[in-house]
Amino acid sequence: MERLQKVLAHAGVASRRKCESLITEGRVTVDGEKVVELGYKVDPSQQVIAVDGKPVKAERKVVLLLNKPTAYVTTVSDPEGRRTVMSLLPQIEERLYPVGRLDYDTSGLLLFTNDGALTERLLHPSHDIEKVYRVTVTGQVDREARRTLSEGVQLDDGMTAPARVELMRQGEESVVQIAIHEGRNRQVRRMFDALKLPVKRLKRMAFGPIALGHLKTGDWRLLDPAEWKALY
Ligand code: URA
Repeated sequence: MERLQKVLAHAGVASRRKCESLITEGRVTVDGEKVVELGYKVDPSQQVIAVDGKPVKAERKVVLLLNKPTAYVTTVSDPEGRRTVMSLLPQIEERLYPVGRLDYDTSGLLLFTNDGALTERLLHPSHDIEKVYRVTVTGQVDREARRTLSEGVQLDDGMTAPARVELMRQGEESVVQIAIHEGRNRQVRRMFDALKLPVKRLKRMAFGPIALGHLKTGDWRLLDPAEWKALY
């Protein structure tokens, strides 16, 4: 259930303040009944809300995932004129925003949504969402380095929390998959830098219950019903 003025504002009727006036002026009905009380709770998926007798279309919630290529910035616009991830999204009515950020040089799974509450929940540190990264480094990631990565690396903003580390390939160039529960700025790169392991490629494979799967670089898709259920 959401506050009536918020639902009206989200549906693009007017600003939050103007929507409050519409309510107090008696111009809003819920299931045909006039509502003048601010903060009245409604369920927009179940109830018909109308302004001056005209039904308001509630904005649908959209969540999509993009396989971000490198050399794109994760912002809505870039003052330096670099390409932004927004240019890779479909032209749809809803205004989508990225859920968090991937570095310019990082590729992989990036979620977008118009659901601010979902974004807040997914990014809040208390929710402990797991993020899985595949890291390609120059040189070998020996047992000691893997142990340090999993137990905690001393960074200038503090020790990292325990992480799951899996060695995928060992050689002149090695590949490690690391699952972390934090989201500090450039965290994975800084963890490997601290161990003198130069990162050549960094790709996010999963974000909580959502995995990149076989989505091609630069492509996007909507969540499937099972993923939707897992997020909400
Ligand atoms: N960690 C990084 O260092 N970079 C990213 O883009 C994401 C996680």
